[in-house]
Amino acid sequence: MTIGIIGAGLTGLTLGSLITDCEILEKDSECGGLCRSIAEDGFTFDCCGSHIIFSKDKEVLDFMLEKLGANIVKRRRNTKIMYNGIYVKYPFENGLSDLPLTDNFECLMGFIETLTNVNDKPGNFNEWLYYTFGKGMAEKYLVPYNEKIWNYETSKMGSFWVDGRVPRPPVEDIIKSSLGIATEGYKHQLEFYYPKEGGINALITSLERESRAKIVKNFDVKSIIRENHNWVISNGIEQRRYEQIIATQPIFDLMYAIADVPPAIYNALHELKYNSLLTVMLGLNVENLNDFSWLYIPDGDCLAHRVAFPSNYSEDVAPDGKSAVLAEITYNNDDSIAKLSDEEIITRTIEELDKKGIIDKATVCYSKAVRTKFAYVIYDLSYKKNIGVIMSFLNHIGIYPVGRFAEFKYLNMDACIRNALDFTKELNK
Ligand SMILES: Cc1cc2nc3c(=O)[nH]c(=O)nc-3n(C[C@H](O)[C@H](O)[C@H](O)COP(=O)(O)OP(=O)(O)OC[C@H]3O[C@@H](n4cnc5c(N)ncnc54)[C@H](O)[C@@H]3O)c2cc1C
Repeated sequence: MTIGIIGAGLTGLTLGSLITDCEILEKDSECGGLCRSIAEDGFTFDCCGSHIIFSKDKEVLDFMLEKLGANIVKRRRNTKIMYNGIYVKYPFENGLSDLPLTDNFECLMGFIETLTNVNDKPGNFNEWLYYTFGKGMAEKYLVPYNEKIWNYETSKMGSFWVDGRVPRPPVEDIIKSSLGIATEGYKHQLEFYYPKEGGINALITSLERESRAKIVKNFDVKSIIRENHNWVISNGIEQRRYEQIIATQPIFDLMYAIADVPPAIYNALHELKYNSLLTVMLGLNVENLNDFSWLYIPDGDCLAHRVAFPSNYSEDVAPDGKSAVLAEITYNNDDSIAKLSDEEIITRTIEELDKKGIIDKATVCYSKAVRTKFAYVIYDLSYKKNIGVIMSFLNHIGIYPVGRFAEFKYLNMDACIRNALDFTKELNK
């Protein structure tokens, strides 16, 4: 076999569908990684967090839609931010007129002050939020929400990943938003797709079908050794040999498997920051709970930072007459949330969502919690230095990481597919 691909998540399976002579090694008994869905009691949930399909990259969007064929629905985003009990249109800067008048004024005023900004360019993510949106929007929503989802201080994060990607909103839009004239933001995501049946895992099922003969499941890659001109990969029981390997598993799993990694590289690895995710999946005995796509919750009195309503993406993911709710909570290994049992998390989330009027706790007919170790890459201030050291090392020994936690970048599905397509083009040159 010429090429060994490690990991059968979206990236590994995409690579597998593009490369003829390859084998895909997956540690789990199921493919899909972060794109797995579970089906129980008539509900289907994306158990590693709510997923939707969207992209500015037409080739990649077409790739995903082609894989799903007729199994697709198109939706228009109807997303809100729950700000002090009020539903504010998302993105926040496009929903200012939903705010109480004083808050609306403070956001508008803060934004106008940024137009005459003579301060130095922002040095971190916190400064960037103030610099780009102004004090009002930063303090009321952007800082609290971001610190909740990242579970990390925004002043300890870099801004290179948003700078340029998220432009300062046009003055005209902010004035219209404040006055209550409708505008839309993040337009590339205003319309999105979702599989009609099977949750986001339907994309995986389709890719898996194409590569079935190449996939080896339950193969947890534990060691990677260079022997003459081959890579020898082992799970501790069995060995497999390849001329080249492409790594799509999280960078930590990859680095621990490679023999003789110098201590300086390990030091950089241990400095990388990420967070984990708890998803609380609830089924409700309620028909059409609401018409929201998902809600963002910056408030500190509720664990979840985001609550999605998958049965509003596709009615086929809940039984007739019922609704599906998926709450997302980020945490880190050593924090107080990590120590709570699944039962405690579920009970607390149901209570909190009930108190906020998002659900009625008496209608809950299904509940489950799932933990995902690697959820979001955190771009802390030392990120570039540390990832640079690790990637130079991998490049030097000839191992190629592709995918979200392999490259250790905040990549959505479309970017993973783009990187897999580009990697394959290079390979075939
Ligand atoms: C909460 C959340 C919401 C998201 N929402 C969206 C969204 O709405 N839209 C969007 O486009 N993207 C979304 N994403 C991003 C999307 O999930 C990822 O970009 C994509 O799934 C990453 O795929 P991957 O194959 O690179 O990595 P992974 O899915 O992590 O796959 C890696 C694979 O490697 C396997 N593996 C690990 N260790 C080993 C080992 N030692 N040996 C063998 N195999 C191993 C794993 O089991 C896994 O199957 C979201 C992500 C999260 C966390």
